[in-house]
Amino acid sequence: MTDSALADRVRAAVGRVTDPELRRPLSELDMVRGVTATGDDVRVEIALTIAGCPAADRIERDVRSAAESAAPGGSVTIDVGVMTPAERKALTERLKGPGRRNPFGAGTLTRVVAVTSGKGGVGKSTVTANLAVALARRGLTVGLIDADVHGFSIPQLLGLVRDGEAPSPTQVGDMILPPVAHDVKTISIGMFLKQSDGSSPGAVMWRGPMLHRTLEQFLTDVYFGDLDVLLLDMPPGTGDIAISAGHLLPGAEVLVVTTPQAAASDVAIRSGLVARQVGQRVVGVVENMAAMPLADGTTLDLFGSGGGAEVARALSEGVEEPVEVLASIPLSPALRQAGDAGEPVVVSHPDDAAARAVESLAARLASGGRRLAGRKLPLATA
Ligand code: ADP
Repeated sequence: MTDSALADRVRAAVGRVTDPELRRPLSELDMVRGVTATGDDVRVEIALTIAGCPAADRIERDVRSAAESAAPGGSVTIDVGVMTPAERKALTERLKGPGRRNPFGAGTLTRVVAVTSGKGGVGKSTVTANLAVALARRGLTVGLIDADVHGFSIPQLLGLVRDGEAPSPTQVGDMILPPVAHDVKTISIGMFLKQSDGSSPGAVMWRGPMLHRTLEQFLTDVYFGDLDVLLLDMPPGTGDIAISAGHLLPGAEVLVVTTPQAAASDVAIRSGLVARQVGQRVVGVVENMAAMPLADGTTLDLFGSGGGAEVARALSEGVEEPVEVLASIPLSPALRQAGDAGEPVVVSHPDDAAARAVESLAARLASGGRRLAGRKLPLATA
């Protein structure tokens, strides 16, 4: 083989290596600067997006092994450089388009589902994290925005927290790369908040405009790439961020999580109605913490029963397409332990009754694509 034929072959192999954060082949990212072959000596020059890129070691390793298999027996040298600011700008513009743009606004091809609840503690974040993973396991490309500013728990639930800290996302120019857990591209407010001593903060005071800007920044600056589904873990209740989400994500569908308890269902109905007022369609209700089957054949219904059906009934009033209870997820010690351990139950105990209920929720959501029927036009958003 001639030197140039060998170099072409190595270039093709190296170009197919994917960047673990950008999830695209290096050839598409212009990260392969040059490949030369002189006899058996092969030299590959690559350009990382930023200096100290956390994925650098992995990229170098993958490039080396791709080059070595394309040039068996040759000696391979990898030169690792860094893109210039101009190259970086060109790359971010190519990936995200010029200027700041929210790719999930009106007309998006991504299915956007905001998961909401009337009050905290009903398992909304747990359901959202497991649903995201279940959808990804079905082969969909999934992004997850943790917009629950008062209780950002998604990084923990997905196992992203190490030594008590959520990872800091890599930034390339003004593009933020979401960390990936269980194939879900995840961004959380918890990843951006640090105390002056570096520790994560406890309670944070948020005002409406700041919330709006944060959600807007997540939508415009985080590079999710092409997604099939974007899930949002919303704060409980009917606050400012629900209204912001209505403006920024007019095509979003809303999934309402409630427990079977009457007191929880009342507030859940209100959160569904607010979402509808800002123009979003309620896609269904999830009843969580439902009766748990016991070994002796009886069931333990700690939170009573009927809350999910009640929310669905109330939210079906006045719309053409009735709102259904898409899943009833039982109380499950495995689900709770899995969340605490950062390994979602759909991965750690796929046969658990709660995991199976989440799987069937994912199946129902994945099969019921976007439908316009039943979606109301925006009313007052004051
Ligand atoms: P929210 O997001 O609504 O505030 P979380 O998802 O943080 O609620 O859940 C609150 C607590 O309830 C967590 O400790 C979680 O592990 C637990 N939990 C949620 N769903 C279940 C369930 N089906 N069975 C047992 N524990 C659950």
